Amino acid sequence: MAKRALISGITGQDGAYLAKLLLQKGYGVHGLLARRSSDTSWRLRELGILTEVQLIDADISDLSSVVRALQLVQPDEYYNLAAQSFVATSWFQPLLTTNATATSVAVVLEALRLTTPKTRFYQASSSEMFGKIQAPVQDETTPFYPRSPYGVAKLFGHWITVNYRESFGMHASSGILFNHESPLRGIEFVTRKISDAVARIKQGKQRELRMGNLDARRDWGFAGDFVEAMWLMLQQAEPSDYVVATGRTITVREFCRIAFQHVGLNYEDHVVIDPKFFRPAEVDVLQGNAARARTKLGWRPKTSLEELITMMVDADMRRVAAEA
Ligand code: GDP
Repeated sequence: MAKRALISGITGQDGAYLAKLLLQKGYGVHGLLARRSSDTSWRLRELGILTEVQLIDADISDLSSVVRALQLVQPDEYYNLAAQSFVATSWFQPLLTTNATATSVAVVLEALRLTTPKTRFYQASSSEMFGKIQAPVQDETTPFYPRSPYGVAKLFGHWITVNYRESFGMHASSGILFNHESPLRGIEFVTRKISDAVARIKQGKQRELRMGNLDARRDWGFAGDFVEAMWLMLQQAEPSDYVVATGRTITVREFCRIAFQHVGLNYEDHVVIDPKFFRPAEVDVLQGNAARARTKLGWRPKTSLEELITMMVDADMRRVAAEA
């Protein structure tokens, strides 16, 4: 019988790519759909899978709605990708972030424990937990030092996952994913903000790009590659924690340079620094060591940074050209 997966956060970037991967593997794919007044299904539509996934009215902040979804689907695997995931917003809405990103993980784990404790669980943890880095290259043994309400909330999600594994023997794994991007990235994140602006500037629809700290360094990978690591974690006999990263880090400035250069522009002619985009506390640099994922899961990233940037800029060039 086909395996069943339940995904919270299915309308997000990772949810959409993971749903597509699982459908390709023959899974029945179900997702929790938190009702919002705006349409959030554009990513599933863009990947051509909106009609192939089963969406259930439920919200991870509401325990009984998750219990009902679990009773209905009886999933083999549960992927928790739902969160308030934008770091900058987390200072403006710290309590909402705590609810959506931290407490909700306990809601899902409780629902699983009470309803379908044999379901394998994946928690989307984040390199933001490393924050003010305690080692030049971060792996599963590096101490955490979050730098934003978002990072603090993700740390709770990570440890409650570890705790439920150790307390109740649940097959619960935590993927500590470094930044992962794609044409489906939300426009507020720096990579997509850049690729969208490059397309608009190239097509004469925008003149400048207002940016914050260009010296921040990130280890950016392709989300489509990273969701494969999530799936691999749940195929292991034993649950565990894994860093997922490319191992290469560059500055936001360098990302701008490559993106503008792809369409024959010089970023220095268009990028303007705006203090509005600086954060109260910054994560200066992240660089991951995914050796464990490589040796235990056989996972490695397939897409280079240059390929990722090209993919994102090309997608936005097409989108902007298609606008009226
Ligand atoms: P994060 O790593 O999860 O915070 O992902 P983001 O894409 O939001 O930000 C990555 C880095 O880019 C951070 O260090 C930001 O301070 C930096 N950055 C510089 N300018 C901007 C900007 O205009 N928007 C965003 N989102 N980030 C910026």
